[in-house]
Amino acid sequence: MLSRVALTCARRLTQSTAASIQQQHQQPRALLSMGASAARAAAGAGSSKQQAYVSPFDERPQLTDEHRIFRDAARRFFETEVAPHHAKWEQDGMVSREVWEKAGAAGLLGTTIPVEYGGGGGDAFHAAIAVEEQLRLQLSGPGFSLHSDIIIPYILHYGSEEQKQKWIPLMCQGKAISAIGMSEPSAGSDLQGIKTTAVRDGDDYVINGSKIFISNGQMADIIVLVAKTDPSKGAHGTSLILVETDRPGFQRGRNLKKLGLKAQDTSELFFDNVRVPASNLLGKENHGFKYLMQELGTERLVIGVLSQASAEGVFADTVKYVNERQAFGKSIASFQNTKFKLAEMKTQLSVGRVFIDRCLELQNQGKLDPVAAAIAKLHAGDMLAKITDECLQLHGGYGFMWEYTAARAYADARVQRIYGGTSEIMKDIISRTL
Ligand SMILES: Cc1cc2nc3c(=O)[nH]c(=O)nc-3n(C[C@H](O)[C@H](O)[C@H](O)COP(=O)(O)OP(=O)(O)OC[C@H]3O[C@@H](n4cnc5c(N)ncnc54)[C@H](O)[C@@H]3O)c2cc1C
Repeated sequence: MLSRVALTCARRLTQSTAASIQQQHQQPRALLSMGASAARAAAGAGSSKQQAYVSPFDERPQLTDEHRIFRDAARRFFETEVAPHHAKWEQDGMVSREVWEKAGAAGLLGTTIPVEYGGGGGDAFHAAIAVEEQLRLQLSGPGFSLHSDIIIPYILHYGSEEQKQKWIPLMCQGKAISAIGMSEPSAGSDLQGIKTTAVRDGDDYVINGSKIFISNGQMADIIVLVAKTDPSKGAHGTSLILVETDRPGFQRGRNLKKLGLKAQDTSELFFDNVRVPASNLLGKENHGFKYLMQELGTERLVIGVLSQASAEGVFADTVKYVNERQAFGKSIASFQNTKFKLAEMKTQLSVGRVFIDRCLELQNQGKLDPVAAAIAKLHAGDMLAKITDECLQLHGGYGFMWEYTAARAYADARVQRIYGGTSEIMKDIISRTL
């Protein structure tokens, strides 16, 4: 029997995906209970010597059969609905609205959000799987995880019943795209320094200010905005306010040109006397900083999850590449330097995976603390930087070519040590407990 979560996901999958899930489910239980790579090996795929070995650590004991079924469906979605369009989206600087709705229909948005609000009702591993299947293929364009795992929870945890009913189902369907506006030209790491204000005027707030580096900024229909409602109180005068992007006075700036994440839109946003009803306040006035502190741990874990997945993806591609590419009459894989580099990377990835999965377990138990989340982000970001560099090197000149995933992974990796709190801020958080 599939549980409610898997049924919810399956119900919302496209017909072809649902059919293949069904097919999967009819396979012998023994096959389903094996790890994905083991199952592939058993099915005869990936017959090379390297792929045949499956460590007990690759099994990820926390994953149930339903997680694996969900993973196969997610994998198929990213392979068929995202990968073929990604190069065009890189040129456009953003993905299509259509892919958001397709992801919603496939049950890939709001995977952990309760079913009564249109979510998948899953756990932290469902959310991780959705991110992993996207990032293993270096498909960094769609800002699904920011929307699903970071922004929707702000509305779920602090919003009124009316706000939840109004926004969350649309967001889970991919019909309302969201952004979160924290950073400003003069305040990134130091969020206490933000200058955007929301001044109460009768039944409204009047918002003035600007934001920078906002992911999904060009596409967003709804923004969770961080603004000062009482500038005299510093951090304790900060609130979170929902701002619909069709409000007069709201303007999107440029879609910023970036080193990586080329298919993801990142924008400046401007607020010039934007009026929103006071009922758009999320939670209590002046409690915004506390809410940010409560939610930033999850954001950091999500970035850790995606960094780990991206590193695993580029590593798998590189193992394949060095086995195929020849130099001096033998494969690149046969050089001792290559073997040692791959062994070092495998070691880092295995250790990193165990830590990330432990954090996901803690997240499920409601016990993930900000320090563990900071360690996850710091470690995975550093590891990704190192692994993408080594993998690119093992590709030689081809690794520098954009059409190779090694190049895209390398470019996309850089920001993982910057956004969601820089590596230096992570070290600061960790060191405060020592
Ligand atoms: C692609 C991209 C997407 C983003 N998406 C979003 C988004 O959706 N929403 C959003 O609100 N923001 C977003 N950001 C902004 C991001 O969170 C900030 O860039 C980040 O928090 C750093 O802030 P900053 O750029 O102002 O750097 P600064 O705070 O100016 O930092 C500059 C340097 O000083 C260091 N530093 C700062 N303070 C300390 C300290 N106390 N100790 C030691 N070193 C310190 C930093 O580590 C860094 O190396 C995004 C950024 C990028 C690049």
